[in-house]
Amino acid sequence: MEGRYDSDLELKYADQIAGLLSTPSPQAVEKYYDKLALEGHGQGLKVKQTREMGKGVFAERDFQEEELVLQDRMLVGAQHFSNKGDSFVCSFCFCYIGSIEIQIGRRLFLRSVNIDNGDGLHHHHSLQLPDNKSKMTSHIPKEVVEDLLNGKLSLPFSEHFPLPVITKCIGGCSDESYCSISCAEAAWEAFHSLLCTGERSLCKNRAGLLDFKQHADETNDIFHVAAQVISKVILKSRKGKENLHEDFNWSEVLNIWEPFAMGYKKLWWECVALPEDIDPIDESEFRKEIKEFAWTSLQLLKGAIFEEEYAPLFSLQVYGKIIGMFELNNLDLVVASPVEDYFIYIDDLPHSEKIEAEKMTRPFLEALGDGYATNCEGTAFFPLQSCINHSCEPNCKAFKREQDKDGQAILVATKPIVKGEQIFISYIEEDMPLEEREASLSDYGFVCKCTKCLQEKGNTSVAAPDI
Ligand SMILES: [Zn+2]
Ligand SMILES: [Zn+2]
Ligand SMILES: [Zn+2]
Repeated sequence: MEGRYDSDLELKYADQIAGLLSTPSPQAVEKYYDKLALEGHGQGLKVKQTREMGKGVFAERDFQEEELVLQDRMLVGAQHFSNKGDSFVCSFCFCYIGSIEIQIGRRLFLRSVNIDNGDGLHHHHSLQLPDNKSKMTSHIPKEVVEDLLNGKLSLPFSEHFPLPVITKCIGGCSDESYCSISCAEAAWEAFHSLLCTGERSLCKNRAGLLDFKQHADETNDIFHVAAQVISKVILKSRKGKENLHEDFNWSEVLNIWEPFAMGYKKLWWECVALPEDIDPIDESEFRKEIKEFAWTSLQLLKGAIFEEEYAPLFSLQVYGKIIGMFELNNLDLVVASPVEDYFIYIDDLPHSEKIEAEKMTRPFLEALGDGYATNCEGTAFFPLQSCINHSCEPNCKAFKREQDKDGQAILVATKPIVKGEQIFISYIEEDMPLEEREASLSDYGFVCKCTKCLQEKGNTSVAAPDI
C-alpha cells in the first residue's frame, strides 16, 4: 500500500481487518450454506468446495428441464443510477410501482428535463438517443405528461397491469420509494436508516451523506451497495446489543459479517478489468485512479456514518474487497418492465379495439423512443447465486417467469440435471466465438475450462471430473 492510504486505522485494527478478510475454511463454508438450506434457501442444492473453481453448487436431487432450481433473495442491492429514469421500482424488492401511466410519464418527464437543462438525472439512455427521437418527446405536451403522473389521464387497458401504490420512505427522504410499508420498514431496518438523507435518518451527518451519494452517482454506483453492506452490519450489531444488553463484542460483528465473508473477493483496483479504451501502458495509472475513487468514496462515507466501535469496517482494504466482490461475481439484478407487456397487450388486441386504443397510445410509444421498455437493472448480492460457477455450456439460466415481479434471482434448468451434478450458469453470452468469450470472462478474472472451451481450443483431453 502506498503511504497516503496507510492510515492509522489500518494499523490500529490490523487484526480485526485480517479477520474480516480471511477466507473461510471449507468446513465453515459448508456449515454456513447448510444453515441457509435449513432456513429454506436453496433446497435441493448443496454448496461444496471444488478442487479447481473454489466454491460450487451441486444438485442434491434430479431437476427436470425448465424446472425451478433456485430462488435467491438478495442481501443488498441497488438499481443502477443510469436506470432510475427508465424504471420506477421499489428500492427494496425492485418490483415496479405506481402505474403504467406513472412509468411512462416519469420517463417522458425526466427526458424533457434532461433535454432542456442538460442535467437533472444523468440519464445515459436518453442522452444517447439520436436527435430526431429526442425531439419527439416534445410532441407530448407538458400538461399531458403531468396528467399521466398525477393520475388524471388513464391509458386504455392499463387496469390489466396494476402496480403497487407508491409508499414513501419512513425516514422522509425522496431518494427511495417502496411498493409497501413492509418493504419500506425492511429496508429501513436492514440498511436504509443509516443511509437515509431524510429528517428521521439515524445518520449523524446528512450533509456528508449527500456528498457521499452524489460522488457515487457520478463515479460508480457500486459504492451505494458497498455502503449498504457496512450499514447492514452496523445496524444488525447494534440491534443485537439492544436485545441482549450485552457489551460490545467484535466476534458478534464477525458473525453478522459471515454472509459477506463467504463471497469470493479481491481488491477492486487490482481485479477490475482494464477497459478497452485504455492503453495497457497506462494500466498502473488507471489502477491508481480506481483506488483513488474508492478512497474518496470511503472518506465521504466515513464522514457520514463512521463509528469508532465499527472502525475496521471502514478500512480501505475492506471497502476495496467489498467492491471487488461485486466486480468478480455475476450479480446482475434484472426485473422485466411491465411497460413492454402493456404495449404488447395493445398490439395483440383484436383489430378494431387495437385501432381505437392506439389512437391514444401510439404517440406515447413514439415519444418514449427505442428503449421504451428498458428493464430495471442494478447490482445485488445473492448469497447462493454468487457461488454458482460459470460454464459456456450451462445447465441453468437466470430466467424471470411470469410470476417473478421482483429482484430475486431465479434460476431454471436448461437441461435435465442429475443428482450430484454441478450447477452452472453462463456469466456471458455463451454463443459468442471463443476469443470473445475469453475476453468477456477476463472481467471475472478467470479462464474458462469448460468442455466447450477445451474442445474449441483443440485440446481433446477431457477435463478431470470436479471433486
Ligand atoms: Zn417492495
Ligand atoms: Zn429515506
Ligand atoms: Zn467455457
